[in-house]
Amino acid sequence: MSFQELKLIQPILQAVAEAGYSNPTAIQQHAIPHILKGEDVLGCAQTGTGKTAAFAIPILQRLSAVTPLKRSIRTLILTPTRELALQIEDSFKAYGKHLRLKSCSIFGGVPQGKQVSNIRNGVDVLIATPGRLLDLMGQGLLSLKDVEIFVLDEADRMLDMGFISDIKKILPQLPRKRQTLFFSATMPSDIKAFAGTMQQNPVEVAVTPVSTTADTVSQSVYFVEKKGKTGLLVSLLKEGNIKRSLVFTRTKHGADKLVKQLAKNGLHSAAIHGNKSQAARQKALSEFKDSRIRVLVATDIAARGIDIDELPHVVNYELPNVAETYVHRIGRTGRAGFGGIAVSFCDTEEMSDLKSIQKLIGFKVPVAGNLITNPVG
Ligand code: AMP
Repeated sequence: MSFQELKLIQPILQAVAEAGYSNPTAIQQHAIPHILKGEDVLGCAQTGTGKTAAFAIPILQRLSAVTPLKRSIRTLILTPTRELALQIEDSFKAYGKHLRLKSCSIFGGVPQGKQVSNIRNGVDVLIATPGRLLDLMGQGLLSLKDVEIFVLDEADRMLDMGFISDIKKILPQLPRKRQTLFFSATMPSDIKAFAGTMQQNPVEVAVTPVSTTADTVSQSVYFVEKKGKTGLLVSLLKEGNIKRSLVFTRTKHGADKLVKQLAKNGLHSAAIHGNKSQAARQKALSEFKDSRIRVLVATDIAARGIDIDELPHVVNYELPNVAETYVHRIGRTGRAGFGGIAVSFCDTEEMSDLKSIQKLIGFKVPVAGNLITNPVG
């Protein structure tokens, strides 16, 4: 199925193409038609399945069909963490870049000033963590009376994190007549019953999880000091039978530096990140797809749009400091049931990142090698 077949409007089709997506994922194929019709949807899908676009795209299309005289919050998205709020905001901005809609996110732990001024300037889509939303509502700084579409994202995590009473306080502030989209990675009976309190005859959509990093992906970790990482990568690439590898670094600078180091070792690679022009990114990507270069070095943001079937090998040259990002990165391989290999390099400073990743995925990543000589003391 193509995005065109989902009957999306041209500005969205264009944005999706620019994001580098060629086809909708399973959750997108199943959820988008119902959301476009204005139906309530109960979606069981984990992060990594393309679920954000599955709701962001049809919401943007519905909102763009009507232009009210005055901008107001017409969509509210509740999500448990600041990281998710920012990711969802990025998605709305990316898929809505050719539309005139505005989105912003609000979350705790930072001063409220900028968030408040964003809201004052007018937003159509508000992405919020529950605490900050209640806080600003309590101060009379925003109203939910114009909300047409309400999304509860990652419901199971919300309940785990103790947000239930906050959500119960928010719900009565929403208009009764609205569309409600409820997403959760798991759907035990208590979560389903909770959805029942806010939805009417929802269409149920479920996809098999990929965020559990799937059995099809074999994961391993090397303990290696920072200065030993390039050498390790070079030897893995040279010795292993690796046709193509997507290598993740945390920073743009780190990506450029690695490309230079690989070149010194006779390995031709290219970096894609936010400082590269669209043309340079496209060139690197197509060279990688055609196997003209074997190694693509990417930062997380740049890698988002990469859509390559049968990508067999991913290297976490640096571990992400947000555990979910690990799942996203790993999701780049082992797609569509193809087997994949994900290798992580973990230095002494990254041990705590590895811990939180293992907590999220629920198991210990098997150790492929320990190249760290134990520091004295
Ligand atoms: P999510 O499940 O929303 O966290 O999305 C996981 C990742 O898949 C994100 O990095 C998206 O940019 C990417 N993505 C979403 N839809 C598609 C698609 N149709 N094709 C390729 N990648 C996608």
